[in-house]
Order: sequence, then structure tokens, then C-alpha cells
Amino acid sequence: MAKVLIIGAGGVGQVVAHKCAQLPNTFSEIVLASRTEAKCKAIAEQIQQSQGRQIETAQVDADQVPELVALINRVKPKLVINVALPYQDLTIMDACLETGVHYLDTANYEPLDTAKFEYHWQWAYQDKFKQAGLMALLGSGFDPGATNVFTSYAAKHYFDEITQLDIIDVNGGNHGYAFATNFNPEINIREVTAECRHWENGQFVTTPAMSLKQSFTCPDGVGTYNIYRMYHEELESLTKHYPSLKKAQFWMSFGDSYLKHLEVLGNVGMTGIEPVEFQGQQIVPIQFLKALLPDPSTLGPRTKGKTCIGCVVQGVKDGKPRTVYIYQVKDHQDCYREVQSQAISYTTGVPAMIGAKLMVEDVWMQAGVWNIEQLNPDPFMEGLNQYGLPWQVIEEPGFDLV
Ligand code: NDP
Repeated sequence: MAKVLIIGAGGVGQVVAHKCAQLPNTFSEIVLASRTEAKCKAIAEQIQQSQGRQIETAQVDADQVPELVALINRVKPKLVINVALPYQDLTIMDACLETGVHYLDTANYEPLDTAKFEYHWQWAYQDKFKQAGLMALLGSGFDPGATNVFTSYAAKHYFDEITQLDIIDVNGGNHGYAFATNFNPEINIREVTAECRHWENGQFVTTPAMSLKQSFTCPDGVGTYNIYRMYHEELESLTKHYPSLKKAQFWMSFGDSYLKHLEVLGNVGMTGIEPVEFQGQQIVPIQFLKALLPDPSTLGPRTKGKTCIGCVVQGVKDGKPRTVYIYQVKDHQDCYREVQSQAISYTTGVPAMIGAKLMVEDVWMQAGVWNIEQLNPDPFMEGLNQYGLPWQVIEEPGFDLV
């Protein structure tokens, strides 16, 4: 039985709060804190109505370590689940160290002024967490998160050595807007407009954003989509922890309307992250754009269709080449019926809850900073099946990937 503090009351925070609340024997007390407490209270009200369970709420500015320390000292949780924004990762890790509390997140730290998607800032906390006897679990969402675990599960159970990895993230959902992002627009657009990097023969190779696409037919009738190669943060940790990988790529599906809007917004400067002066005030274009776009947490009732996210892993078993595809399909409306959110937030929030459960139940708990693929994949894979994200394996799927 453990008390948890969830920081961040956006789309993902909502799912984490609902899913933790569904397991009172594991998460005996839940506190949900965020910059805008009204959002925490609205989620608490949903949980009260759907489950009859009360969770506490609090206000915090997670950019301020002293505020976080005061909150953690008052709440005294065993674990902080960080589902605020990547900008807050280091301040929350600092506060956890100062208060002696374990840490979990779903996205790697990013400085506000440069979109880099690199782990070195958080890996630099290794000694501090080890010496304090605390655990920090990095990237316990879907991608990163479940995709890392799919890779480690495949490596453990299907291969002697893995040599190629293709992570394929298809969102076959439609929300009916001409342009909206499924999770935080600022983070989403920074990620999508970044130069592409993929791993080839022992190094990252850089190509222009969205310059390579192919068609991919998902299993289980989800449909055929254009997928584009892009950089994603799990490539950094997976190629470090699986040095036998000769090639590793990440692919994501995008509709033509989304890409056209993004191109125009980029051309006119609306996706910029440098402040510009407007009527005597400094504004950051992408933050202004965020204010205009639909809030991702409101997409739940309108989003129809399915997500299909998985890993195609190639390698060698008993001297013979082998290919395995591990994937998960989730229906947006099923998620909405269960926790009033669409599948992007759901597929992130459920793995965050499972990672937290494995930590507080001492299945995964060990001092240090860990990427999720470094831990035993089996209990996490069982958790996915148990808590709403059942997965499948296809051996020799016969995909003809670039
Ligand atoms: P949202 O923008 O919907 O929510 C972010 C929440 O964090 C908001 O409640 C926001 O508060 C709060 N917040 C922001 N800044 C602060 C601050 N300084 N102090 C306290 N709270 C703050 O984002 P999502 O829920 O979509 O995403 C949450 C996280 O999950 C992000 O880090 C994202 O990158 C990650 N993610 C990971 C995925 C994965 O598969 N690994 C997939 C999708 C998302 P306010 O309401 O006041 O703005």
C-alpha cells in the first residue's frame, strides 16, 4: 500500500489518476497536483463519480524546487509520478532527491529554448540517485515506454541477438478537426518538426524532417497509413542498451491535412520556439499557437478509430534470421468510456501506472536512474494485458519495410 503524488493534470495525468484510483490495494492514497488546481479538482470529481473514490488535489509550480519540496514534505508520498511537461523533469528529480522520494516520468528532459530529446541530463543523476538509495524510472509511457519493453521482451524471449528495430506508431483515429494534436501541442510540434535521426552502423544519421515515408498496413483491420521516419527519444537509450543493433528507426503516421497545416504554420513562423516581440510584449510563437489549438484533453469524446503501436524486431535465433512484430491496438472510444480520454493519453497513462505499481510493490525497485528496457520486461507485459493494453505477437509478419 503506497501513497503517490501525481504531478501534471493534463490528458496523461487524467488517465494516470483514474488508473491508480482503480487499484486501491496498491495506491492507497493519491494526491494530484498541477499548476492549475482547478484541472486537478475536475479530474478528482470524475473519479469520485465513476469510482466513488476520493483523491486529494494540490497546486504547485513544478519549475520551482522549493515549492515542490514543500509539497512533497507535506504529502509524504513513496513515489512521484511526473506527467507534467519534459521541462519539469530535472526540478522534480531534484526535489525527489532532497526529500528522499522515488521518481517516474514518461518523457525525457528538454530545455525550453532547444528541442534536443537527449537523456544525458537525466543520466547524469545516476550517482545521486544510487547514493540516496532512490529509484528514478525514465520513459514509462507508450513510446517511450511500452515500445522499449516490447524490444527487451523480444530480445529476451525470441532472439540470441537483435540487429534491427523499427518502432511504428500509427494513430488511425480521427477527431474531426482540420488540425489538432493528440498530446501537448508544444511538445508534439517540437518533436515532429525536429530533424530526423536514425541509427545505422554504430552512429546516428541525420536527415531532413519527414523526408522518408512509406505505406504500412496495420494488423487487425486498423487500416493502411503513410508512416514517416522521425527521431524519437527511445532510439538513444535502446541503441545504448542493445549495442548489437545495426539499424534502429522510428516511424509515425500522419494524415495529409495535419502535415499541410504544419508546413504552413512552420513557413509563417508559428512553430518557432524563440520569443518574438509583439505589441511591446515577448511571445513565443509555438506557445501562442498552443493557446489557439484544441486542448488535447478535450478530444476524447470526438476521437474515433484505433491506435496501433508496435515494434518490428529483426535478429538471429539459433543461427537463423528471425523477425517478430509485437504490437498493441487500442480503440479511442473504449478509452473514453473507461476514463473519459482518447487513446493517446490512455496508452501513455496506463504504462505510467504499471511502472509505478512495479516500483511501489518492490518488483522493479532498485536504486539508480533506469530506462525501462533495463528492467525485467515480463511483469510489465503482464500488466499491459491486465490493465487495458493487451498486446499480440506475429512471427515473420512479412512486412516489406524500407
Ligand atoms: P498536457 O499539456 O495535456 O498536460 C501537462 C500538464 O502539466 C498540465 O496540467 C499543465 O498545467 C501541467 N504543467 C505544465 N507546467 C507545469 C508546471 N510548471 N508546474 C506544474 N504543472 C505544470 O500534456 P499531456 O498530458 O499530453 O502530456 C504529459 C506528459 O506526457 C508530457 O511530458 C508528454 O511529453 C508526455 N507524453 C509521453 C508519451 C509517451 O508515450 N511516452 C505520449 C504522450 C505524452 P496547466 O494545465 O496549468 O497548463
